[in-house]
Amino acid sequence: MIKPDVMPMCQCDNCSKIHSADKLVEAKDLDQRLDYPIGHPDCKEPSGECPDCGALCYPVEPVALSNWDVTVHYQTHGGAAGARTIRGIKAADEDEAIEKANATVRRDPRVAKIHGGDVETPSEREDRQVYLVIQEGGSSAELYLRAHASRELAEKDRIRCAAGAFRTSPVVAIPRAVADTPGFLEAVEMALLAHQGLEMVDTPVKPAGKARFR
Ligand SMILES: [Zn+2]
Repeated sequence: MIKPDVMPMCQCDNCSKIHSADKLVEAKDLDQRLDYPIGHPDCKEPSGECPDCGALCYPVEPVALSNWDVTVHYQTHGGAAGARTIRGIKAADEDEAIEKANATVRRDPRVAKIHGGDVETPSEREDRQVYLVIQEGGSSAELYLRAHASRELAEKDRIRCAAGAFRTSPVVAIPRAVADTPGFLEAVEMALLAHQGLEMVDTPVKPAGKARFR
């Protein structure tokens, strides 16, 4: 059974209605209805026919949710001004993030007037994070830890490494304060290499007559 939350949503090219893919009617005569045959690089393949108007429906790109930090400035009933930052608001866009933050502050009975929201950045702020990629070296005994200022740069680095036929790990985000500790990256590199020496150490035989053995 397909879970409802992974069922792709599709939009009708004609009436713009959104349907889940399982509600569509199987499309007929596609070779006459499409500009390019299916499989052609320029062909956008429809998911089926709109159950309402019969036109072709296409998959809708899922909306990405980001974690935003929004600072809301407000005035209390007593007239005093204040500001509150609400972190990690899940929203599809900036306006939605501000609206959600405002709604949160509005629930505070002390707040009389809201001056509006300042969107700082998504919560995973680039200036607070460092993005690590583990890259294998020429031999299996070599590993490099590569640190980047942004996730985008880290992903680009992975592509560059792949072009040189080097495998890389998924990007790992760590706090910048940790990465800035002197010797941290070298220490992690050593720990990663130690993983290649995993083995079963010789287990001492438990001495007879002793109830506890450490
Ligand atoms: Zn339609």
